[in-house]
Amino acid sequence: MKFNLPLLFLIVFATPVAADELVVYSARNEQLIKPLFDAYTAETGTEIKFITDKAGPLLARLKAEGAGTRADLLLTVDAGNLWKAAQDGVLTSVRSNTLDQNIPSHLRDPDGKWFGLSVRARTIVYSTERVKPGELSTYEALAEPQWKGRLCLRTSKKVYNQSLIATMIARHGADATRKVVEGWIANLATSVFSNDTKVMQAIAAGQCDVGIVNTYYFGRLLKKDPKLALALFWPNQDAGGVHVNVSGAGIVRHAKHADAAQKFLEWLSEEKAQRMFADGNLEYPANPNVEAHATVKTWGDFKQDATNLSAAGRLQVEAIKLMDQAGYK
Ligand code: FE
Repeated sequence: MKFNLPLLFLIVFATPVAADELVVYSARNEQLIKPLFDAYTAETGTEIKFITDKAGPLLARLKAEGAGTRADLLLTVDAGNLWKAAQDGVLTSVRSNTLDQNIPSHLRDPDGKWFGLSVRARTIVYSTERVKPGELSTYEALAEPQWKGRLCLRTSKKVYNQSLIATMIARHGADATRKVVEGWIANLATSVFSNDTKVMQAIAAGQCDVGIVNTYYFGRLLKKDPKLALALFWPNQDAGGVHVNVSGAGIVRHAKHADAAQKFLEWLSEEKAQRMFADGNLEYPANPNVEAHATVKTWGDFKQDATNLSAAGRLQVEAIKLMDQAGYK
């Protein structure tokens, strides 16, 4: 009988450890990420467990769980959210030549705490019936009097617009940016909308002529209704570039499988995953060597704003205050 207990332990610990396992907290929806996770499991044998929720609750959960968390990787949208997660201490620095080569430096945290994995361009959309592309030039020019009563905007409460204004502050400073935002508000055709699709629908309905939206919403809307008289315009091609943002990921500080998480993150930056991830929502691959979806390519090439996206987080509070002062609801 004396041997039974050690024997039991021996049996328990001799059981082969399962292949690597990863736990992902994701603000991207299951429909988009599940095929990616399945492809990775098929290739490597690494099992991926995940939960999905909105960015805010996921971050709150990571903070509450602290060292006890089971999460290895946080996957979320918007550099503002990624920056906040890094700032709140739930992410760890990663040094990886693969990631540094595949992801342009403006799309990742200088400290390696998060990496953009897909690019979302926030650009100008216009009515092809009432606007000629030659009349458009920059985001800033939408503040000029020729657009009075013709502009539609989404609410300033959305992080996408906070990031847009934050990077504008990084480029122009607060005073110049405030003048631009005040000009936009003076040009509004109607109250701000709750989402980008409603902005485009208002333009299509003739309520306004121009707006600012993320291109994947344009792709989604046009897929449903290809006859809508709307087109995208790439602003600021000689002045800083198109405002881009990312969805991306960082490795959790208390990850139990940090090495496996890094391998997975590196895999996500390579061609196959980049295509799946970007194409799933008509976004742009963050890796500039990977081609965009055929539909996305029809929208044309553009120069990105090369401002490091950490500015979206660093200047977010200032951007919110500035928009409030300028009357941007
Ligand atoms: Fe979105």
